[in-house]
Amino acid sequence: MAAEVLSNAGVKIDLYDAMPSVGRKFLMAGKGGMNITHSEPFERFLSRYGSGRDAIKPILEAFGPERLRAWAKGLGIETFVGSSGKVFPTDMKAAPLLRAWLHRLRTDGVNFHMRHQWQGWTDDGQLKFLTPEGETTISVDAVVLALGGASWARLGSTGAWVPLLLRQGISVEPLQPSNCGFDVGWSEFFGSRFAGQPLTGLFYRFDGSRISATRRNDRDCTWR
Ligand SMILES: Cc1cc2nc3c(=O)[nH]c(=O)nc-3n(C[C@H](O)[C@H](O)[C@H](O)COP(=O)(O)OP(=O)(O)OC[C@H]3O[C@@H](n4cnc5c(N)ncnc54)[C@H](O)[C@@H]3O)c2cc1C
Repeated sequence: MAAEVLSNAGVKIDLYDAMPSVGRKFLMAGKGGMNITHSEPFERFLSRYGSGRDAIKPILEAFGPERLRAWAKGLGIETFVGSSGKVFPTDMKAAPLLRAWLHRLRTDGVNFHMRHQWQGWTDDGQLKFLTPEGETTISVDAVVLALGGASWARLGSTGAWVPLLLRQGISVEPLQPSNCGFDVGWSEFFGSRFAGQPLTGLFYRFDGSRISATRRNDRDCTWR
């Protein structure tokens, strides 16, 4: 998105990514049905950002849920509001959106350089990359880092960039997981079938000795 905005403003963009192709996690996100935003009223939507609300407000005012849907439509991707109020592409998939987006970026002149793992800066301020052909350095006027968090490392988001910034004296908010695992006293029968399964769309409560989970939109179904 940064490449698109800057390219539209007339900046020449070279985009580097460590992986053989871009947007791998974006594609993974589309596997179970890609939820791109929510249709709820703006104030309620904003409240989801908790203490980050004030910082995110001007950003959402400039590019909020409606603008996002219009942007997708501009790529030929229609969206719909599901029964939960969440917004999805009509076919629920990420791949057609990513394909159309990359095509447009290339047409607009964005140059993609894959298999370029950024490794920090040289003493004279050049960017250092590791490529299949070995190490290389590149000189740029400005750089935008959009390196993701540290989950699903096999899709490229390793978080290995954190020490590179710290070494330059740039403070980085420590990365934290937003999901967690927990142990449950299941029987061998149940555990051998279901241990490790992701549980989503649930409300969890922990009373100090016991976790109970209730499925969203299904208050009658309680699992302990
Ligand atoms: C299973 C799953 C389902 C999801 N479902 C949804 C959903 O329905 N809706 C939704 O909005 N979100 C969903 N998400 C979350 C969404 O995928 C992420 O929020 C999003 O991908 C984050 O984008 P990003 O550009 O910040 O980082 P990333 O997508 O992680 O991209 C970071 C990029 O930086 C590259 N990179 C990292 N380090 C370097 C380096 N040193 N040098 C060069 N390149 C580097 C990586 O290769 C990667 O391509 C889901 C995620 C998962 C895993």
